[in-house]
Amino acid sequence: MSSSLGRPFRLASLLFALLFLACLARAQTDFRVGTASAAPGQKATGYIEVPAGVDAGTNIPVAVVRGSRPGPVLALVTGAHGTEYASIIAVEKLIGLLDPHEISGTVILIPLVNVASFEQKVPHVNPVDNKNMNRFYPGKVDGTETERALFLITNDVVDRSDYLIDYHGGDIDESLRPYAYWAPTGRDAQDRTSKQMVLAFGLDHIIIWRERPSDPAQTRYLDNTASARGKPSIVVEAGYAGRVDTDDIALLVTGTLSTMRELKMLEGEPRPVENPVWIDRLVDVPSETDGIFYPDVKRGTYVAAGMKLGRVTDFFGQTIAEPRAPAAGVVLHIDAVPSLKKGDNIANIGVLAQRAP
Ligand SMILES: [Zn+2]
Repeated sequence: MSSSLGRPFRLASLLFALLFLACLARAQTDFRVGTASAAPGQKATGYIEVPAGVDAGTNIPVAVVRGSRPGPVLALVTGAHGTEYASIIAVEKLIGLLDPHEISGTVILIPLVNVASFEQKVPHVNPVDNKNMNRFYPGKVDGTETERALFLITNDVVDRSDYLIDYHGGDIDESLRPYAYWAPTGRDAQDRTSKQMVLAFGLDHIIIWRERPSDPAQTRYLDNTASARGKPSIVVEAGYAGRVDTDDIALLVTGTLSTMRELKMLEGEPRPVENPVWIDRLVDVPSETDGIFYPDVKRGTYVAAGMKLGRVTDFFGQTIAEPRAPAAGVVLHIDAVPSLKKGDNIANIGVLAQRAP
């Protein structure tokens, strides 16, 4: 009697145990970021849920593209500044373009960190707490919304990645020519890899960003947060003044695919830029006065030291200032709108490096 009842019971227990192990194996192979969870060969979307704290919470969209073959983890993050539209649209396009069956490894894509900036069309900062969402890394679990969001990105994205690309561009008020940043850390192997990444990305002006904090608690910027944790990372910038031009989108999309080829995450050869313009110093042009700005030069113009960049008038048309280039170099960005107040940065001049690094 007991044996006839016991057999089906043992069989059911065995089936249950097998099912449990299958679920466990599945959970272990799934790659999860926020609510996006993808098994090998899958693409998933979801949100990094930032809970309410001293102020409101937010949901940051995230996609995970899990290659069918094993490989490294690459993070693509944009929209810390929610009105740098070209970079946001480019990463949104990549979510659609990347095919898990063509990828070795995993790509985490965040198309928009600063949702409130995008929704409210507020440049530079998160309007919820008025903080710049690329200045408060590694974040704080009990801080304001920006700090809580960056804390989750550090833990859920940066710490789980092997490589990182941070995307920016000219904001609504900036006329910017495309460029990239390469920030050597002094660790040779890491710097070699990040240099290969920035060359493979293909933007033809590259700023060398030296002497950045190596203490992981003091990194402030996303790319520095990754690099201080030993992960090769670069920053790329394209787009300007609220525009979504196909040329800028193409630069960011093809640059990403070329970098993925360099990292052996996609088949095919990368197309690195040859002989880029290396820039080893950025010079600001702070405005001496409030007023209305009229530019004389365009984004990408090469200027001599002392060259006039434009003029500033009062509200009655009288010229009250003539800002000039403090050094010879290339105009990386210049104000795209007439609004000007004392202390605003009118332009960034990139001073060319004497030799390639
Ligand atoms: Zn930005």
